[in-house]
Amino acid sequence: MDISLTDARLYAEDELVPLSALQHILFCERQCALIHIEGLWAENRLTTEGRHLHERADSGESESRGPVRTARSLPLRSLRLGLAGRADVVEFRYDGSVLTAAIPIEYKRGREKMDDSDRVQLCAQALCLEEMLGIPVPVGALFYATPRRRADVLFDEPLRRITEDTVIRLHALLDSGITLRVPRQPKCDGCSLFELCMPDVTATSISASAWSARAVTASLARSVDPSSENL
Ligand code: SF4
Repeated sequence: MDISLTDARLYAEDELVPLSALQHILFCERQCALIHIEGLWAENRLTTEGRHLHERADSGESESRGPVRTARSLPLRSLRLGLAGRADVVEFRYDGSVLTAAIPIEYKRGREKMDDSDRVQLCAQALCLEEMLGIPVPVGALFYATPRRRADVLFDEPLRRITEDTVIRLHALLDSGITLRVPRQPKCDGCSLFELCMPDVTATSISASAWSARAVTASLARSVDPSSENL
């Protein structure tokens, strides 16, 4: 069955899931489940650095300079995507009293990542802003701490597709309530949940990709027809 989010119903307020979970599921489905299904969290050096980096952005202060208003820690949501979260910073640009542009900006610890997780999180923020404001949001920016660098992000169709596919996978995982066991991977060494996860002693009888495909199909079927059966 080929179903996109545009075919699905709107989510209710109490069905919204954290936008931040997109980064977790892109890093590791088991980590995402441990945090968002089982409620586990553990700080390590990397998460602590990231938290400190966001302190100014999370201050909630906003400021205006000429035609630009900068909002910090701005609440976001999308009923189409079923997401809620906050943007570190959003720059709003005005022509007189008319809003002409909204640019989401995220601050990141460390270097630019090789994977799509930062861009997907930012794109999800852009999709929320588009739904909330009713204007196109074609571009955003990521600020990396090491080295200090700004990377502009174009929200093109491929990135929007990846983002929406990740949202579908996220809802499927959280709807399932299942925490997959996965084999130890190189990235486990930098995972804040290593001690809680114990990847060295886990095993699985179904591959993560096979489970994920089944869960996505079942979740989409429930979105279109809430009376449909589980997997
Ligand atoms: S330790 Fe490895 S398998 Fe466990 S949650 Fe972290 S990345 Fe995933």
